[in-house]
Amino acid sequence: MTELLNVDEALNRILVDFQQLPSELVPLESSLHRVLAVDIVAEVSIPPFPNSSMDGYAVRAADSQRFDGKNPVLRVVMDIPAGSAPNGRIESGQAARIMTGAMMPDGADAVIPVEQTDSTWQAGDYVPLPETVTLRAEIKPGNAVRPIGEDIRIGDTVLRAGNLIRPQEMGVLAALGQANVPVIRQPRVAILSSGDELVSVDQPLAPGKIRDTNSYTLAGLIQSYGGIPYRIPTARDQMDDIRRRFQEALDLHPDLIISSAGVSVGTLDMMRAVMMEYGDLTFWRVNLRPGKPLAYGKLRGIPYFGLPGNPVSAMVTFDVFVRPALLKLGGQADAFQTIIAVLSEELHSDGRRSYIRVKLHKEQDQWVARTTGTQSSGALTSMVQADGLLILPEGVTLAAPGDQFPVRLLKSTLLNDDSQR
Ligand code: AMP
Ligand code: MG
Repeated sequence: MTELLNVDEALNRILVDFQQLPSELVPLESSLHRVLAVDIVAEVSIPPFPNSSMDGYAVRAADSQRFDGKNPVLRVVMDIPAGSAPNGRIESGQAARIMTGAMMPDGADAVIPVEQTDSTWQAGDYVPLPETVTLRAEIKPGNAVRPIGEDIRIGDTVLRAGNLIRPQEMGVLAALGQANVPVIRQPRVAILSSGDELVSVDQPLAPGKIRDTNSYTLAGLIQSYGGIPYRIPTARDQMDDIRRRFQEALDLHPDLIISSAGVSVGTLDMMRAVMMEYGDLTFWRVNLRPGKPLAYGKLRGIPYFGLPGNPVSAMVTFDVFVRPALLKLGGQADAFQTIIAVLSEELHSDGRRSYIRVKLHKEQDQWVARTTGTQSSGALTSMVQADGLLILPEGVTLAAPGDQFPVRLLKSTLLNDDSQR
């Protein structure tokens, strides 16, 4: 028997085949969850001018000092609604009525909120400009003023190539006038399934049949990591049909092709024969559990993964091998969260690197991991329950309660410190 390939070695060999895809421009409103292709350097400061953070009066702070025990009274010489530019300066003894977000007039260094004056006004009502205003508080220079560039200074690199665009990044891009955003093109991924036992989700089950689940879990994973999935109809276990479905996948000119099933012994020869017709294949049996039968190669120059058919194995091998490749194509760093957890039960392994579905909870300051129950690679609900994958390294055949291991969190996991799930 040939020696099983180490997981990290396999991944290294895979990743050399992947380069970041080129960029494209998308309208800002369609940029959510896309990956920025360039650094964004501010061409304006934000805010672009000093402005008031309150409704009130722009004054010189020094004029707010009480004198002889009396509240200062200033002459109101200007009205500055939001969106307008002040038409003059404020001198000592003067005030400008100013609205939230409106530009500070020259000469003023602070804003006194309306509540700290003798004025009152209601939103929406136009109140004639009073001739004077009485100040009822002493304020410091800078009070209620947002200085120019408080948020962003012109010339700052605000966002970086590779950043994932979230709602807050969209807002920053809007503030900077970026109506179209250069993003990395999304990887397009064809998904193939095979097996005479598979029926589609809208079909009734018959004896011996199960519903195709992998094409959905894989499509979901692809989308989670920024790709666009294309589900090809299931291939029957016949050479011609397998060939036809592979051809369909190739005709999409995808960036990546993923199949599940057909790499275990029973159907291996058919799949292998078809793969060989279309390309270069290194069949790998990788040293991991679940998921030892895993194929990787190129079909007509397009990278190809042949994942195992068992639903959990397909998801785990995607997580370990396809995800990093997909993220590299899409220009994203492979930032998965790994924590260290204490095992609460005994575990056995055959010495392959094992990815064990676990639930996590916190005891004192320590994460504790227990298995989700059955670790059958067909039991997909173990993935539903799992918070993460506990990694038992190669060579470990027995792990005892209290032993510590890394747990790679599943993407959707929200760790809640006092959860006792
Ligand atoms: P195979 O590699 O074709 O022998 O498949 C291994 C196991 O995975 C078998 O139990 C299959 O029924 C199951 N399987 C294969 N493809 C799928 C799929 N698309 N959805 C759910 N189970 C699958
Ligand atoms: Mg099969």
